[in-house]
Amino acid sequence: QAKHSSDDSTVVFNTHLETELSQQVKLEQQLINALDRRELTVAFQPVIDARSGDLCGVEALARWNSESGPIAPDVFIPVAEKAGLIGILGSQILEEAIAQGSRWPGLQIAVNVSPLQLRNRYFAGGLKATLDKFAFEPHRLTIELTEGVLISNADQARRSISEIRALGIKVALDDFGSGFASIGSLRQFRFDRVKLDKSLVANILHDAQAAEVLDATIKLVNALGVPVTVEGIETRHQAEFARVAGSHQLQGYWFSKPLSKEELTARFLDNRRIESPGKAASFAPTS
Ligand code: C2E
Ligand code: MG
Ligand code: MG
Ligand code: MG
Repeated sequence: QAKHSSDDSTVVFNTHLETELSQQVKLEQQLINALDRRELTVAFQPVIDARSGDLCGVEALARWNSESGPIAPDVFIPVAEKAGLIGILGSQILEEAIAQGSRWPGLQIAVNVSPLQLRNRYFAGGLKATLDKFAFEPHRLTIELTEGVLISNADQARRSISEIRALGIKVALDDFGSGFASIGSLRQFRFDRVKLDKSLVANILHDAQAAEVLDATIKLVNALGVPVTVEGIETRHQAEFARVAGSHQLQGYWFSKPLSKEELTARFLDNRRIESPGKAASFAPTS
């Protein structure tokens, strides 16, 4: 009897595995087709200067509206990474972000890059070719990297980062506080900016310890001489708390959700106010 049930559970396990596998394969095939037809788009989320409330830049975020509805980047980015598609996906997103950015003179654009993309020794060269193609100034671009890049002891990733910097492009550490990135690694890499993960902000209203941790983390990063952006700002209280704690830039639904390029242009960047992006628009919260 015992043997029987263990056999049964083996069968159940395999069936689960097969379903999951075939779903993964299906998604992978859909993604290949989407990339082939260049169906992925880019949304732009405003980043706000904490003191003035003005728009100071945007983060480009990949969007995929598949035949079966929208699929979140947290789902399709890992699929692309596993399937060896992240290079082509990343270059499509980058090209679209830069092409659009070149129509918003002066605006800072941040693009997320997978640590895997940096292992390609032609990454920095490709990046430069894209900037040249659109005459986009390198100092207007920030590459956002997650801490995966710190643990990968891939020498090529480090070389790519040096090459990116040598081009005058900025490098930010994304999602700090969500994992295990250490103070030592922050000092070693000397990032141009650190973005604090939204999990650090989520509970500060009701959890006094969470509030202290956020405050201390902002001050810690500032003490290392690195400017901070706090992500996931959903309330006025969170915006005010992060600003007072010393965060210079804020990002989150309180100010704006990620927008299509048309929405961003219409809401914040029309009337040539783009000439001075710092004054492009005073951000009235959207809710
Ligand atoms: P991320 O780079 O940390 O981007 C911030 C995420 O938080 C975005 O999710 C954004 O829509 C969401 N967000 C912004 N404000 C708020 C808020 O106030 N509250 C909450 N709850 N969420 C907020 P999204 O667009 O779903 O992207 C998820 C992640 O997928 C990104 O996290 C990034 O790691 C990855 N990703 C997105 N686009 C790309 C890409 O082009 N390349 C790569 N390699 N990764 C990407
Ligand atoms: Mg990011
Ligand atoms: Mg983040
Ligand atoms: Mg993230």
